[in-house]
Amino acid sequence: KNLTSAQVRQMFLDFFKEKGHAVEPSASLVPNEDPTLLWINSGVATLKKYFDGRVVPANPRITNAQKSIRTNDITNVGYTARHHTFFEMLGNFSIGDYFKEEAIDFAWEFLTGEKWIGFDPEKLSVTVHPEDEEAYKLWSEKIGLPEERIIRIEENFWDIGEGPSGPNTEIFYDRGESYGNDPEDPELYPGGENERYLEIWNLVFSQFNHNPDDTYTPLPKKNIDTGMGLERLVSVIQGTKTNFETDLFLPIIQATEKFANTTYHTSVSADVSFKVIADHIRTVTFAVSDGALPSNEGRGYVLRRLLRRAVRYAKQIGIEKPFMYELVPTVAAIMEAFYPEVKQKQEFIQNVIKTEEERFHETLQEGLQILNSVVEKEKANGSTIFPGEEVFRLYDTYGFPKELTEEYVAEAGFTIDEAGFETEMEKQRDRARNARQKVDSMQIQDGVLASITEESQFVGYDQLAVTTTIST
Ligand code: ATP
Ligand code: MG
Ligand code: MG
Ligand code: MG
Repeated sequence: KNLTSAQVRQMFLDFFKEKGHAVEPSASLVPNEDPTLLWINSGVATLKKYFDGRVVPANPRITNAQKSIRTNDITNVGYTARHHTFFEMLGNFSIGDYFKEEAIDFAWEFLTGEKWIGFDPEKLSVTVHPEDEEAYKLWSEKIGLPEERIIRIEENFWDIGEGPSGPNTEIFYDRGESYGNDPEDPELYPGGENERYLEIWNLVFSQFNHNPDDTYTPLPKKNIDTGMGLERLVSVIQGTKTNFETDLFLPIIQATEKFANTTYHTSVSADVSFKVIADHIRTVTFAVSDGALPSNEGRGYVLRRLLRRAVRYAKQIGIEKPFMYELVPTVAAIMEAFYPEVKQKQEFIQNVIKTEEERFHETLQEGLQILNSVVEKEKANGSTIFPGEEVFRLYDTYGFPKELTEEYVAEAGFTIDEAGFETEMEKQRDRARNARQKVDSMQIQDGVLASITEESQFVGYDQLAVTTTIST
C-alpha cells in the first residue's frame, strides 16, 4: 500500500477508535507528574496514573501516538536502521478491560487486514516468553502462525522493578533475504546488526505485581500496554532500507544536503552524519517546542549534548557554520498535520537553536585546539587516557558535553578518565552549594532537574541569551 506517515499514524488511531478506544493526544515530552523520568519515553509513560490505579479513566480502552525520547539509544542512531532519540510510539491500552486474546487479535487485524495496513501475513513472526503458553497458543491456534515463526525467548518479560510487570510478545517483519545476506557488510549494517527481522510492535501483558520482596503475585486487574514505532512501521510500508529514507526523515536530509559538501548515499560515514543530524534536529525541535531549553543540567544538558553532537557530525560533511536552526521549518512541515504547534512556535525554536549553535561555534575552535594539544601531550607520555580535569575544563569553559569529548578523543584511540571528571564535577557542586542563595531560578523546572546537577556558569548566561533573542 502507498501510505504517507501521516496516513499511517491516523489509520492506527482510527483503527483503535473503531475498536472502542478513546484517542488521547500526544502528551508533552516533558513529564509533568513523574519525577522518576527525564523524558516521556513510551506511550505508557503518560498513562501511569491509570495503570497504577491512581486515576480511573472514563474509558478503559485508550489509544495514542506518543512523542518519545530515548537517549539510551543515542549510539545506535545512524548506525542501525531503526533507532532514534526521538520517535513516535503508537499504542493501544487496556486498563483492566481486554487482555491477551483481544490484544493479539487487534494487532494482527491492524497489520494484515485488507482495510488496514495489509501486510502479507507470511512476513510476520513473533516472540513470546517461554512460560507464556497462553500467548503461544493464541498465536499458533487462533492466528495460525506456524511453529517456526513463534520464537520463545527469556527476555520477553517486562519488569521495571516494583509495580506491574508481565510477559510480552513482539512482532517482527521479515524484510527479506537482501537484508540478511551479509551482516558483515558495512554498507548494509554500519551498526553491525542484521536487521532482516525488524521488531515493529511490542505487546506487554501486565498481569503480575512485582512486590517489594521481589515476589510476583497476580494482579486483580490485568492490563495491556503496547507500543509500535511509527518510523519502523512506515519504513516497511514505504519499502525503505532504513527509517531515514521515509517521508519522516528524507526531506530533512535533503535540506541538510544544501549545506554539505557531499550528498546522501555517497559514503557510509557521510550517511551516518546525515542520519544523526536528521535524528537530533527532530529531538531538539520537539523538546524545545514542549518547553525544554539547552542548559548544563538535566533535560537541558541532553539538548545541548544533542546539538553539539550534531555539529560534530556536520563538520564531517563539511558544514562549518550554524545550520541546524534552518532545518526546523522542514521538521515543522513534515509533522504539521498532527503537531501544528511546532509550526506555530517555529520562530522561537529556531532562535533557541541558533543561539546555541552560535555559542558553540564561538568556543569550538579553541576547545578543539586544547583537546588536540592534550591528546598530543598524553600520547608523548605514552598514555591513551584523556585526563578528567581536562574533560571538566572542556565541559565547564568550552561547553563540551563529556560525551562529546569522549567521542572526539575516541577518534585518536583515547578514552576519558571518567572518575577524574566526576571528582571535578563534585568539587563544582560543592562550590555551587556554597553560593546557593541566588539560585532559586532552578525552581522554574521541577524537583528532579534541580537534583541532577547544580547550577553552572553556563545556565544563567544561556537563559539570558535565549530571552534576549526572543524579545528582540
Ligand atoms: P529494539 O530491540 O529494536 O531496540 P526495544 O525492544 O528496545 O526495540 P520497546 O521498548 O519494545 O523497544 O519499544 C516498543 C517499540 O517502540 C519497538 O518495538 C519499536 O518499534 C519502537 N522503538 C523502541 N525504541 C526505539 C527507538 N530508539 N527508535 C525508534 N523506535 C523505537
Ligand atoms: Mg531498544
Ligand atoms: Mg527489542
Ligand atoms: Mg521491544
